[in-house]
Amino acid sequence: MNNRFEHKVALVTGGGSGIGQNTAVKFAAEGAYVIILDMDINSANQTKSTIEAAGGQAEVFECNVAKQQQVNDIVDTISKDREIDILINNAGIAHVGNIEGTTEEDLDRVYNVNVKGCYNLMHAVVAKMKANKSGVILNLASIASSVGIEDRFAYSMSKGAVLTMTYSVARDYIEHGIRCNCIAPGRVHTPFVDNFLDKNYPENRDEMFDKLSKSQPIGRMGKVDEIAALISYLCSDEAAFITGSNFPIDGGFVTLNN
Ligand code: NAD
Repeated sequence: MNNRFEHKVALVTGGGSGIGQNTAVKFAAEGAYVIILDMDINSANQTKSTIEAAGGQAEVFECNVAKQQQVNDIVDTISKDREIDILINNAGIAHVGNIEGTTEEDLDRVYNVNVKGCYNLMHAVVAKMKANKSGVILNLASIASSVGIEDRFAYSMSKGAVLTMTYSVARDYIEHGIRCNCIAPGRVHTPFVDNFLDKNYPENRDEMFDKLSKSQPIGRMGKVDEIAALISYLCSDEAAFITGSNFPIDGGFVTLNN
C-alpha cells in the first residue's frame, strides 16, 4: 500500500458517489483520515463502511455544500480536533439545456452547488490552511470549463467559474503554502452520467451512452479510478511544484476533436 497520505486529513465533498466515492476510498487506502461531506448521508455512510472494511479511517457529515452556515459549522467542528490538509471540491450537479432552455431557477440551482459550494468550502478552509502555512485544494472543473459543449449553458457557466476560482485562490495563497489546482475530466462513467441519461434520454439511452463514449477521441468514457489516481497525485507531496494548473483528463476531447 502506498502511504503517501499518512497523517494527512482529506475532506472530500460528494464522497458518497462516483468520482468522490472512489477518491475517498483511494485516499483512505493511501493513509489519509478521510472526511466526507455529502447531502446523501446514506451513500456517504456506505463509502465510510467500504473504507473501514479495508482498514481505513473515515468520518461523514450530512451537508448541503450550497449552504454556507452548514459548511462553516461543520468545518469548525472538524477543526476542533483536526487540521484539514487537503480539500477536494467534488460535489456537483448537472443540467442540460441551452440558454433558452435554462430557467432562472435552473441557473441558480447549478450556481448554488457547483460555484457557491466550491466557494463555501474554500472560504471556510483557506484561513485555517493559511494559519498552518500549508494546504492543498483540488477542484473538479470539466471539459466544459474551456470549450463549448452543446446544451450545457448553466453547467459550463459553473465549471468555467470553478476553473477561474482555482487560478484566483492559487495566486492569492501561494505565499501561504497553499497549492490550488483543478482537473477537467471528459465524460466519466459514474451515476452522474447514468442519471443524466435516464432522465434526458429514456427512449434511446444505449444509443446516447455510445455517442457520449465516442465523443472522446479515445473511444470510451473515463473510469473513476483513473480520475482518482490523478487527484491523488496532485494532492500528494510529489506534486509540490504544481499550483494554479488545470489538468485535462478527457481521452483527447479538448485537443484532438477536430
Ligand atoms: P455523482 O452524481 O456520481 O456524485 C456526486 C455526489 O455529490 C453525490 O454523492 C451527491 O449526493 C453529492 N452532492 C450533490 N449535490 C450536493 C450538495 N449540494 N451538497 C453536498 N453533496 C452534494 O457525480 P460524479 O460524476 O462523480 O461527479 C463528481 C464531480 O465531477 C462533479 O463536480 C462533476 O461536475 C464533475 N465531473 C464529472 C464528470 C462525469 O462525466 N462524471 C465529468 C466532468 C466533471
